[in-house]
Amino acid sequence: MAKINDNYLKLKAGYLFPEIGRRVRGFAAAHPEAKVIRLGIGDVTQPLTPTILKAFHDAVDDLAQASSFMGYGPEQGYDFLIEAIIEKSYKPLGVELKNTEMFISDGSKCDCANILDIFALDNTVAIGDPVYPVYNDTNVMIGRTGEADEKGYYQGLVYLPCTEENGFMPAFPSQKVDMIYLCFPNNPTGAVATKEQLKGWVDYALANDSIILFDAAYEAFITDPSIPHSIYEIEGAKKCAIEFRSFSKTAGFTGVRCGLVVVPEELEGTTSTGEKYSFNKLWLRRQTTKFNGASYPVQKAAAAVYSEEGWKETKENIDYYMENARIIREGLSGAGLTVYGGVNGPYIWLKTPVGLSSWDFFDKLLTECHVVGTPGSGFGPSGEGFFRLSAFGNRDNVIEAVERIKKNLK
Ligand code: PLP
Repeated sequence: MAKINDNYLKLKAGYLFPEIGRRVRGFAAAHPEAKVIRLGIGDVTQPLTPTILKAFHDAVDDLAQASSFMGYGPEQGYDFLIEAIIEKSYKPLGVELKNTEMFISDGSKCDCANILDIFALDNTVAIGDPVYPVYNDTNVMIGRTGEADEKGYYQGLVYLPCTEENGFMPAFPSQKVDMIYLCFPNNPTGAVATKEQLKGWVDYALANDSIILFDAAYEAFITDPSIPHSIYEIEGAKKCAIEFRSFSKTAGFTGVRCGLVVVPEELEGTTSTGEKYSFNKLWLRRQTTKFNGASYPVQKAAAAVYSEEGWKETKENIDYYMENARIIREGLSGAGLTVYGGVNGPYIWLKTPVGLSSWDFFDKLLTECHVVGTPGSGFGPSGEGFFRLSAFGNRDNVIEAVERIKKNLK
């Protein structure tokens, strides 16, 4: 009989979102009259903007004529999109990138997972706690870890607590690590890194020959002009960092699917025999072998985000979500809760009232306010006692949810 990859069996059974779904379905079945408002999973609610939609439609029409039909595209993505991103999104930050350093994909979740293909299994990996669960679970699946302990920490991974005390900014690992995941603006805490803080990480990585896997999925939500949008704004980062970005939240592409990875040409690792080798070459090889590119209409739609009108409309949607974030943040802090995030990112990270665990507060909000959020403990042990609300709901629902919570907590 074929053997399974039993690393998968090490994963904890009740993955966060299925468990939330189970509890919400149970409640809704028992209370069909309740209007449940979901501010849990970070899915967007605003439709594609008119300019993006038109580009999408036009590209589909191109496929209808032999003269403009497009078949397989370049595995790394079309130059029209790569150039638009480099010109409109990186150049204004003072970051120069070559086309060959950028790889378009069908989303950032796959990229964050697939990147592990080009790293040896015996690299030591550090991740935040709490953290976007994909970093943790994909390392478990690929076989880099032992079993989880009773707290949920996997043997072999280095966890960097992100707590109220350290302002949700992890301290440098006390042992040498080869790979470090950083995510700013952070999911779930909403924390951002200043230029000085990011410089600290780049200096750490350069001094320790580590690679930073920098997840910038929420960079478009930064409102403070002093906060970096890309790790490459920091000198030396091209020698030590891979950056991930996504169109999902920025432009409403959660269902459309488009993301990108930057793997600079200067970025090197060593072979098992100690010679230097380019990660860019490896990633190109990986993508050309295992991926056939994001679809042409999707890439045309993504490129439209960078047109003048496209960006204006996209920015309006981002502002809409950030106004939701303000309403949640101010409403709940006015109701006496301690609230973090929601200023430079679309997540509000609140402290659960004294005596209530993350899941207690989840059940209280669901059953008493009919509002769904995400228990902080689902993102890692240091998330216990916290709760995440997403600003991606529609405005009326956000206002109603905040009013219900305020009334309940009075
Ligand atoms: N990275 C972070 C931190 C996220 O929160 C998400 C989605 O929620 C992703 C990556 C994945 O985004 P995508 O929809 O591009 O796969």
